[in-house]
Amino acid sequence: MEKLKIAIQKSGRLSEKSVLLLKEAGISMTNGERKLISVSSSYPIEVLYLRDDDIPQYVRDRVADIGIVGENVFAEKGSEVEVVERLGFSRCRMSLAIPKQEEYKGPAYFNGKKIATSYPVILDRYLREQGIDAEIHEISGSVEIAPGIGLAEGIFDIVSSGSTLISNGLKEVEVIMKSEAVVIGRSDMPSEKKELLANLLFRIRSVQAASNNKYILLNAPNDKLDEIVALIPGMKSPTVMPLAESGWSSVHSVLSESQFWQIIDELKNLGAQGILVIPIEKMIV
Ligand code: ATP
Ligand code: MG
Repeated sequence: MEKLKIAIQKSGRLSEKSVLLLKEAGISMTNGERKLISVSSSYPIEVLYLRDDDIPQYVRDRVADIGIVGENVFAEKGSEVEVVERLGFSRCRMSLAIPKQEEYKGPAYFNGKKIATSYPVILDRYLREQGIDAEIHEISGSVEIAPGIGLAEGIFDIVSSGSTLISNGLKEVEVIMKSEAVVIGRSDMPSEKKELLANLLFRIRSVQAASNNKYILLNAPNDKLDEIVALIPGMKSPTVMPLAESGWSSVHSVLSESQFWQIIDELKNLGAQGILVIPIEKMIV
């Protein structure tokens, strides 16, 4: 049987979450993790462990069918491949930064300046769009030290909390793109592989839907039942069952994480009692 070949980062900020995602989708590895290749006993899949920068090229060359990379790496190196799913983890941004004492009034600041980066393609595209004539100095790591050692006047790099910039005496002045982990693949994948991919994505979405939602149970006074039910519509509609005590009902539903606290407060104000909130392991949407 054909196997779906997926490339994930061997070690780094994406690797643990990539392995966990596959595990939660029911894909366990038989011959251990972190070799070059491992196969799954539970799904027709082969996992290749690679450096993240190399993954777009392996997918483009059909050595792997799909890969998990940061959107930043996809934007830099992802020609001939496309994003097939956004995964929502490893969020960061790609920003321009300059020494903190410098006055900054806008992107024109960079005219005639030298910018150090590991992402020349993304930076070049941005500079062209903005009509800025700056020199790109490509280096492969520790970009943040470039201004301090006189290699460049600004940098373009990944930022998440910003603490690396601060400890190097830099300030973030422009956010050029936002990034999260994505699944990439070729659009011309053979149809058997497309089926395997569709099934894998279905599993991934079920895991993600579950982690974004909670199961909620509560007791509601019957005179407020309509209002309470309207607040927690659930997947189709909530289950409502009478309690042994007259005048009260038990309501079961599903609640999204993002609205959670606001809705809990409204439910309490409507007189809901005994509210229980339970994690959902998988949610088939
Ligand atoms: P490799 O050795 O595989 O080339 P790397 O050093 O290039 O690894 P990592 O630092 O492991 O890469 O980062 C991998 C990806 O994780 C980045 O491309 C980016 O999408 C994301 N990322 C990087 N830094 C952060 C951060 N501080 N917070 C969240 N996500 C991040
Ligand atoms: Mg890398």
